[in-house]
Amino acid sequence: MKTALVCGAAGFIGSHLVDFLLQKNYHVIGLDNFVTGRKENLSHLAENKNFRLIEWDITNAPNISEKIDEIYNLASPASPVDFTKRPVFILQTAAQGQTHMLELAKNTNARILFASTSEVYGDPLQHPQVESYWGNVNPIGIRGCYDEAKRFGEAITMAYHRLHKVNTCIARIFNTYGSRMRPEDGRVIPNFFSQAVSKQSLSIYGDGKQTRSLCFVSDLVAGLYALMQSTSHEPTNLGNPREMTILELADTINKITGNTAPHKFLPLPPDDPKQRCPSIDRAKTTLGWEPKVGLEEGLKHTLEYFNQ
Ligand code: NAD
Ligand code: UDP
Repeated sequence: MKTALVCGAAGFIGSHLVDFLLQKNYHVIGLDNFVTGRKENLSHLAENKNFRLIEWDITNAPNISEKIDEIYNLASPASPVDFTKRPVFILQTAAQGQTHMLELAKNTNARILFASTSEVYGDPLQHPQVESYWGNVNPIGIRGCYDEAKRFGEAITMAYHRLHKVNTCIARIFNTYGSRMRPEDGRVIPNFFSQAVSKQSLSIYGDGKQTRSLCFVSDLVAGLYALMQSTSHEPTNLGNPREMTILELADTINKITGNTAPHKFLPLPPDDPKQRCPSIDRAKTTLGWEPKVGLEEGLKHTLEYFNQ
């Protein structure tokens, strides 16, 4: 039986990853400080003998003595709301937290995955975004704390790989959605669903013509696992290449929820990327991975969760 350590286990993606690994017969240790995660995301595992949740902030070195085979570091606040609320903590979590996890990987010979983001491409000038693109990031803007945190995380991951031969991989995750997102998280899917189910106007930032490409969480988790099982060390985009405008997304959510309230237009936050779509050629070639869940299907599953 393999042992996996999941940092950020009580979060949206982390909790789905824990479920996935337990189904694959892993022994799983979860670390979380609950800054944006919730114990209830894992409450169904309370009796599971193969799972242990430790309350821990990864900006401190973890105290783990058992043999670890795989480390998934997903710990980080990820919503633009947090970029204003806790920018220093975001930077520290990537800098100190990923360094601690790389040390642990070095000492236990584990393979480690760093959860990076499409935000490393900033407001991209190249479209769709391929891994070889270096990005267009404003380091001192409102999103700089997150973008540069993740860029540092990637840099130190490659440094440990080159210097200490640590077995590393980097997932550049594009916008992902599904159940267990906090309704108050501030990202577009929880905002739109919370508004739509209570028949309120959806809050469109700017003119809504900016684009995103949304990946359903089960596809993303399968991609993270495939990357971990591979021998790849290069950053790999994981996301769904179906690109849409935020207006199209809003209209689709209104349609499936039967919401008829007119949209409400609000100012666009600074540095909000205008276009985002992953090239997933690398993931297809090296992992044999591509997303399977279509937008309408994924949104319907997500609606069931927001309707609870
Ligand atoms: P989330 O906020 O639901 O989960 C993050 C989890 O990490 C939370 O449970 C939080 O409490 C925990 N955490 C944060 N800082 C910590 C620390 N210092 N020590 C211990 N635990 C800590 O967010 P998510 O959407 O599930 O994102 C998970 C990861 O994926 C993040 O690293 C994020 O940057 C990355 N990512 C997510 C998306 C997306 O669309 N969801 C896109 C790109 C990248
Ligand atoms: N957005 C919006 N209304 C909202 C929340 C977000 O129009 O209530 C827009 C936001 O400006 C961005 C896109 O939706 O262009 C995705 O935002 P999110 O915060 O989910 O993630 P991002 O990709 O910007 O990190």
